[in-house]
Amino acid sequence: MNIRANIPMPTAVVPPAIREGLSTARPMLIDGKWVAAQSGKTFEVFDPATGETIAHVAEGDKADVDLAVKAARRAFEAGPWAQMTPSERGRIIHCIGDLILDNIDELATIEALDNGKPKAVAKAADVTLSADMFHYMSGWATKLEGKHIPISALTAPGAEFVSMTRMEPIGVVGQIIPWNFPLLMAAWKLAPALTTGCTVVLKVAEETPLSALRLGELILEAGVPAGVVNIIPGFGETAGAALAEHPNVDKVAFTGSTEVGRLIVHAASRDLKKVSLELGGKSPNIVLGDADPELAIAGATAAIFFNHGQCCNAGSRLFVQRNLFDKVVEGVAAEADKIKLGPGLTEDTEMGPQVSRVQYDRVTGYLASGTEEGARAICGGEGLGGSGYFVAPTVLVDTKPEMKVVREEIFGPVLVASRFDEVDDALVAEANNTIYDLAAGVWSGDSARALRIANRLRAGTVWINCYHVFDAALPFGGYKQSGWGREMGQAVLSNYLETKAITTRIG
Ligand code: NDP
Repeated sequence: MNIRANIPMPTAVVPPAIREGLSTARPMLIDGKWVAAQSGKTFEVFDPATGETIAHVAEGDKADVDLAVKAARRAFEAGPWAQMTPSERGRIIHCIGDLILDNIDELATIEALDNGKPKAVAKAADVTLSADMFHYMSGWATKLEGKHIPISALTAPGAEFVSMTRMEPIGVVGQIIPWNFPLLMAAWKLAPALTTGCTVVLKVAEETPLSALRLGELILEAGVPAGVVNIIPGFGETAGAALAEHPNVDKVAFTGSTEVGRLIVHAASRDLKKVSLELGGKSPNIVLGDADPELAIAGATAAIFFNHGQCCNAGSRLFVQRNLFDKVVEGVAAEADKIKLGPGLTEDTEMGPQVSRVQYDRVTGYLASGTEEGARAICGGEGLGGSGYFVAPTVLVDTKPEMKVVREEIFGPVLVASRFDEVDDALVAEANNTIYDLAAGVWSGDSARALRIANRLRAGTVWINCYHVFDAALPFGGYKQSGWGREMGQAVLSNYLETKAITTRIG
């Protein structure tokens, strides 16, 4: 029986200023203006803690995407953005970061209401890291250097040349983001695109459009010219698909499911648009027998339950060496049982609801499938029912590698735990035995040993004796079906740049 099912969920008070701001339909941003959808349609946005409607938002569709792409094209080719010096561009991008910090409380409140995550977490992680992304990227605006390249010009003996490369913006970028970190995903996408001089049409997730729309206001306030950033709320099958296949978009940057990632590639293939993808994961988290068990318990708990398990890099497959298995797995279950569930806006909430009814049904469907296939929940194991979308943090044991809960991305607070005997090839092979390979964790008292394992894991990020350590300076992305390209760090710039080689004959 789920002991949480009988505990009444606290209710949260939405600050009057936020409620007032959401009382009329939120428009979308096209060409520097806040406008209704061409169709006049709006869609409802729900509070995942209660299932109640909190806002109506303009429903962008093909016609709105087309207007936005035209505006972005004009801004790319002719507007003040195209003439701006790198240092002017950098200053504006830095200013966006400042404005995010100036409005940190409001943005965290919106995120907690719309996504359901605890406000304190939104403040410390989502909003702070969003600002840092703009601050970090702003410095690169003046450092997008080409090279002077000595050439041999074998076909023109005796002639003399000077050759150089120039880094140029790729053009009009279509960006499509998910709901798990609504503001942060917008920042990860917008900051490097602006830094490189691109212009953007951003399609935000239908579940969580509110913080990106507020960010749009801050972007205009910072001085980004009209048409450089256009923000379209709407549905994936309509607005998202129209953006991915639009012939006047030069590049598509997508974060979301691997399944939709394939659709994006297909849509972009007609015009051979450049594509970058940040997709799913089923990340292994490996605790060696010489690890500090307390550190590993805290780390494994955070690895799976942070953001309600709605992290592409969640440490969702826990491997523990036999001597520590009972201690660590029972420790994680005990920590999971202590996690306080509630609405994001309630002060002592540690874990909010799943973002939507669809995600709730999906996660509880996986829990049912795990039990049917023989896995055993040593904590949680169920959704809490009621009008909000709360799922109890769950640890499953007695799992087998072929079970759906072990193979597939659940994207909820569900950990599968298994034991191993030796630190050998078989362990590494099982950790790598997934279609994904986004992230991994290794816990050990011997960092050289942990590093040797890290080197063999096929993952874009490996954390040793830590987890979820993100930084604007560190590249993040996946191997295999976890995606193409990297977010953040210097590496992300290449997603938005073309290299031009120029050769001049000088003799
Ligand atoms: P999706 O991949 O469907 O959504 C991500 C974004 O893509 C949203 O903006 C969505 O629009 C848009 N989209 C959906 N269909 C299309 C399309 N045909 N063309 C263009 N854009 C489209 O993720 P879901 O929200 O459906 O979540 C399902 C699963 O995806 C999760 O359970 C999880 O496994 C994974 N996921 C992974 C994330 C990651 O960070 N890697 C983030 C979110 C989900 P709309 O707003 O209408 O949904």
